[in-house]
Amino acid sequence: MIDSEMVVDKKDGKSSMLNGRFEVILPAERWERVPSWGGASFGVSHVYRPSTVEQLQAIFELARRSGRSVGLRGGGNSYGDAAMNDENILLDLRRMTRVLDWDPENGRISLEPGVTLQQLWQYVLEDGWWPPVVTGTMKTTIGGCAAMNVHGKNAWQVGPIGEHILEFDLLLPSGEIITCNREENRDVFFAAIGGFGVLGCFTRITLQLKRVYSGLLDVETCSLPHLDAMFDYFAENVPRSDYIVGWMDAFARGRSLGRGDVHRANYLPPGADPNPSQTLRLDNQHLPDTILGIVPKSIMWLFMRPFTNNLGTRFVNGGKYWAGRLTGVKRYRQPHAAFHFLLDYIPNWKKAYGPGGLIQYQPFVPRENAREAFREILRLCQRRGLPNYLTVLKRHRPDEFLMTHGLDGFSMAMDFRITPGNRERIVALVKELDEIVLAANGRFYFAKDSTLRPQIARAYLGEEAVAKFKALKQRCDPDNLLQTNLWRRIFEP
Ligand SMILES: Cc1cc2nc3c(=O)[nH]c(=O)nc-3n(C[C@H](O)[C@H](O)[C@H](O)COP(=O)(O)OP(=O)(O)OC[C@H]3O[C@@H](n4cnc5c(N)ncnc54)[C@H](O)[C@@H]3O)c2cc1C
Repeated sequence: MIDSEMVVDKKDGKSSMLNGRFEVILPAERWERVPSWGGASFGVSHVYRPSTVEQLQAIFELARRSGRSVGLRGGGNSYGDAAMNDENILLDLRRMTRVLDWDPENGRISLEPGVTLQQLWQYVLEDGWWPPVVTGTMKTTIGGCAAMNVHGKNAWQVGPIGEHILEFDLLLPSGEIITCNREENRDVFFAAIGGFGVLGCFTRITLQLKRVYSGLLDVETCSLPHLDAMFDYFAENVPRSDYIVGWMDAFARGRSLGRGDVHRANYLPPGADPNPSQTLRLDNQHLPDTILGIVPKSIMWLFMRPFTNNLGTRFVNGGKYWAGRLTGVKRYRQPHAAFHFLLDYIPNWKKAYGPGGLIQYQPFVPRENAREAFREILRLCQRRGLPNYLTVLKRHRPDEFLMTHGLDGFSMAMDFRITPGNRERIVALVKELDEIVLAANGRFYFAKDSTLRPQIARAYLGEEAVAKFKALKQRCDPDNLLQTNLWRRIFEP
């Protein structure tokens, strides 16, 4: 299919020499409008959807001949511009979904990059395994997760997903495929994981999964009255939990600043589930199709729409917090999928944010500075009249990856609604927030980013790490064929 397009181009006489390079004009029917996940920005790209490594190689060749760069895209769940490549080629990898090898005795699996977390857990759960790290949505692909080195609600326990990747094959833009692990091509291994898709394209990823003895988790939830209580809860419960996540009401002020709910969960030890073969079955993991057994979830975003503004969200957040206060501490058993993929409960919930979409800002701050930095951030957002609508607190640990966002501390993910009236004010606010995060020795996360400026990235990553990454980029991709909007915005302004 790809070859014939090149032939058609030539037959049509659309080929020419440009600056000594053979130029192929790409067919107009490949143009597609491509959004950021949050819908706050759009671009247009030539989109290709290869299903084999050979097709991938052919597209790189086509890119070289057409003078276009190539961006990689998995499920397109990065909030900002990480999986966009305006006016150039975009490779959508969601057709590369084969399971290449599965060892249910040892929990090792080799996957093509387009396999989603949903496909993965559904494939392995009945054999008693679960992905060691999952994101808040199961629609992410394993290639996209590796490229961003994603973390879960257990980040302080098990690190990011890269710590569970045993090996991968990386297709370089030259067409060469290199195998990388902790011994072979070690430097590329620690840079391509978290390297946001600009060193090469993962074509095979081998992952070590986590053994589970039940399809259920022991879950505890409770509401906490302020930020200090939230941090104290984490400090007390981190040593005895497998997962913890906090939700905060960014509208609460004064003594109540940072109030919210926490959810923590533990795996069931062997023997604790009387009927594991039942609970591990997929039938017991499905998310419900309706809310309260009546409202189809597919239209729930329409009901959320009138509340997705400052007044409505203040009201909803307050109600959620007080409902939690009244019911007190709750303990129950919950299927893995229901605990992890809360954000998939309501399909298309982002549409409730309206046509301007949303951006996310997720700073990571060392443990000793996080409490004060996050207090300052929440207050500043309120002072600027721009409180965020969804605020999520997680605990993390440092890791060995070159472009890491990980550190011994906390992250606070914040969703900001974008409207024509507030876009510039949000950009100005984020600049102020960047300074708070940098002063607290914090870091940022490319998967969530829409606003980071080159000097801020250099300041937190360090000149040495950036230079090392650029040297590897030169080695893996000397013609700078692999690019994204994010790459150009931050590293090649
Ligand atoms: C609702 C929601 C919840 C989320 N929760 C979390 C969370 O809990 N934790 C977390 O860490 N993140 C979270 N994220 C962010 C998300 O996990 C990351 O952005 C992830 O990278 C998305 O995977 P994707 O397959 O959609 O990749 P995309 O967004 O399509 O791409 C991500 C990056 O990977 C590169 N890439 C894609 N495929 C390949 C490949 N085969 N080889 C090399 N590079 C490739 C792309 O160029 C891009 O730079 C969440 C996002 C959403 C929308």
